[in-house]
Amino acid sequence: MIAKRLRRSLDDAICIRDIFEEGKKMASVYGKENIFNFTIGNPSVEPPAIVNESMKEILDQEDPLTLHGYPANVGHPDVRAHIADYLNRTFDCHYDENGIIMTSGAASAIVVICNTLLDYGDEVVTFAPYFWEYKSYVESFYGKLVPALCDMKTLQPDPQTFEAALTERTRFVLINTPNNPTGAVYTDASLKKVCEILEKKQQEYGHPIYLVSDEPYRKLAYDIEVPYLTHYYKNTIVVYSYSKALSIPGERIGYIAMQPDVEDMGDLFAGMTASMRYLGYVNAPSLQQKMLLKCVDASVDISIYRETRDILYEGLVKIGYTCIHPDGAFYLFVKALEEDDSKFCEAAKEEKILMAPGSAFYGPGWVRISYCVPAKVAERSLPAFERLYQKYQK
Ligand code: PLP
Repeated sequence: MIAKRLRRSLDDAICIRDIFEEGKKMASVYGKENIFNFTIGNPSVEPPAIVNESMKEILDQEDPLTLHGYPANVGHPDVRAHIADYLNRTFDCHYDENGIIMTSGAASAIVVICNTLLDYGDEVVTFAPYFWEYKSYVESFYGKLVPALCDMKTLQPDPQTFEAALTERTRFVLINTPNNPTGAVYTDASLKKVCEILEKKQQEYGHPIYLVSDEPYRKLAYDIEVPYLTHYYKNTIVVYSYSKALSIPGERIGYIAMQPDVEDMGDLFAGMTASMRYLGYVNAPSLQQKMLLKCVDASVDISIYRETRDILYEGLVKIGYTCIHPDGAFYLFVKALEEDDSKFCEAAKEEKILMAPGSAFYGPGWVRISYCVPAKVAERSLPAFERLYQKYQK
């Protein structure tokens, strides 16, 4: 018998992995080339060569007992100093190594933050549509995830909805730009408004409300600058991951970054350090940390994702679908052609198209297309999308 809490969450889950697996089965029946599986966000562009080169060099050069031994829970000091230095040069910030904690990707960073900040019943506000795992992360620590729906005409945060979502129990706001599932990059104007409201609410409630910026897609932005949130709000905690930037989600490496003037910084750092141990991470993988000494700023070739995005976005709009131009990540959020997005996804399967229903992301009536597929697959899918569209016109 498993915990009731987990049982409930398993029963509620719309499992996108299941749809992905179904797509794999369909591929074995109809042929891989005839299935358009746009379900999961698994990078499809090769990691840059520097990743392997750097790992090989470290394996050859570092003292094996140091490399494979336990580092400090928060990570190797030279790596943390290197990251702080890189962030300061790139974003004009003032980090030091004592504000950097190496983590096993963004997922573990967020749960470490939840463990550090949440007491029973505390609230976390996030902009919806949102990455579906956020709910499980927060509920695992007996917190409550409160969605603040974006303006669905622009996919930007809606200030009024956001303000109404904040309460005395709000411990932090979880923001994700470029966004999964919409591909939206939140604008300077949207972020200014969000931070103004946060500043006002902090004053009103008399305690900090942290802004946790989950940034696994920062490097995947197409001809647009992704604003750096510490410039907008002092109590910002940045979560970064190399999973998508370097196409290495299996390697589990990322970090938490906090500037020295974040409120209660000493407690936060001590709490997060202990949380690394208590949650069983102990430390982020040592070799992957050291690898970053050579590729802190590296990125996959994003022109490949951009090409696929353009094919799909332009193709779908031409057919008649409604979608808002996505400026980042590798997702396209498309309005379903009927109210029930799950039924729409079922109908799409008849055309061998697999997509994730928007309801899984608190975006009912929409679907998510994960376009981390080769451009030629995107191209070949367009006639299938056209047939699907025509069915709904009858
Ligand atoms: N946050 C968002 C918005 C994501 O889309 C993902 C993964 O897809 C994660 C966090 C977790 O990523 P990581 O592999 O860095 O743990």
